[in-house]
Amino acid sequence: MKNNVVEKGKSYEVHIADIGHNGEGIGRVEGFTVFVQGGVPGDDLRIKIELVKKNYAVGKIIKLVNPSPNRITPVCPIADTCGGCQTQHISYQEQLHLKTNTVKANIERIGKLEDVLIHDTIGMEEPARYRNKAQFPVGRLDNQAVIGFYKKGTHEIVNTSSCYIQHEVNDRIVAVLRRYMDQYNVSAFDDETGMGFIRHILTKVGFTTGEIMVVLITNGRKIPYLRELIQELIKEIPEIKSIVQNINMKKTNRVLGDECITLFGEDKIVDYIGDLKFHISALSFFQVNPMQTKVLYEKALEYAGLTGEETVFDVYCGIGTISLFLAQKAKKVYGIEIIDAAIEDARENARINGIENTEFYVGKAEEVVPRLYKQGITADVVVVDPPRKGCEEEVLDTIVKMNPKRVVYVSCNPSTLARDLKYLDERGYKTIEVQPVDMFPHTTHVEAIVLMTYCGSGEKK
Ligand code: SAH
Repeated sequence: MKNNVVEKGKSYEVHIADIGHNGEGIGRVEGFTVFVQGGVPGDDLRIKIELVKKNYAVGKIIKLVNPSPNRITPVCPIADTCGGCQTQHISYQEQLHLKTNTVKANIERIGKLEDVLIHDTIGMEEPARYRNKAQFPVGRLDNQAVIGFYKKGTHEIVNTSSCYIQHEVNDRIVAVLRRYMDQYNVSAFDDETGMGFIRHILTKVGFTTGEIMVVLITNGRKIPYLRELIQELIKEIPEIKSIVQNINMKKTNRVLGDECITLFGEDKIVDYIGDLKFHISALSFFQVNPMQTKVLYEKALEYAGLTGEETVFDVYCGIGTISLFLAQKAKKVYGIEIIDAAIEDARENARINGIENTEFYVGKAEEVVPRLYKQGITADVVVVDPPRKGCEEEVLDTIVKMNPKRVVYVSCNPSTLARDLKYLDERGYKTIEVQPVDMFPHTTHVEAIVLMTYCGSGEKK
């Protein structure tokens, strides 16, 4: 590939053909790859080159020569600067189409799989206000509290009055906290000096129940004017069921510390996915888009093809949401997860739903799954929902040895998904169907669920 085609500072015309991992447009100048922030597939642009590397260059839009029909004006006035969304300038239909294409490209190029039925991405009817968890960094600028989001690629906080992908109630919560900090001169944490009191505001909303939790993450214990703050919050937002302080005095990028103190109301809020009830605490993980989670889990249930007789493994089970969904239709479900607290939540969630046919194990999947197999436990159906890096080979090898009829793979990263599908394909598990589900509209996150069945040599179970 030539790298003497484009020159820094010069301008070129480019057609945007694709989109990159961070939502940037991708085009070519005489075959040389150029990334353009804000470029939409279908755009003809005049750009100025800002950076040239061996295999690619980065350019900035100077003029929309012929805009793509899929280019739209973002709903959010700070969409360009905020690091939260990446694709608000692309029509929602086109966002879904691009996600489907990403999944297809990975399955073809990395997975080298043919004859796979890849469905169109299931999107949301109303792709707005879908998140049930918000995390606002807190800072100070010109002696005023700033609560909002990090500016793209920086640690600078952008003040926001309303976030288009968060629940509306956040607008009111943030407004109360800004007012409280200004009125009582409460300091904000400063990353560089490690000084200052309020680090983050975390909110959780039960979409079905309407219950709300507000978590103040503080660099210290004593909250100034605590009574006034609580009074103001519950006066303005009567739906609040829980106010929690989380103490994080470490110099770290991690948002949450380990210690939680309930300041008002309950330690937990309640929400439902389908008929299942979940307790959500300040520290526990819960899927952030409850509407699409239901769509995803119903697909998992459909692909699992349960009759009530099956033993099922739910590997990387988190707080056991998929396990509990499947347990309603299976004989027995084993959930495996590395985080201790998540397994405690999984057990509690099983209990509050009266589900008795689940068993949860803490540990690395690559150790626990082979150990259970050695103890003589096998599966008729295996569901995996690994983190971005995909499944360890030990997990896949043990699945193959267990020889389940079906494997259902839930993935948040199409490239490791394609790698793992190829690995299983070579060992007798054929990928039948792939269904991408849009869990995170206006971002480049791609989630997909896959059905594999055993088609290898030998007797099927
Ligand atoms: N299935 C769950 C969560 C999936 S996210 C749900 O739908 O809610 C992936 C999970 O894998 C996380 O909970 C993470 O803690 C867990 N995890 C990461 N590495 C792991 C490993 N090596 N072994 C077991 N679990 C792991």
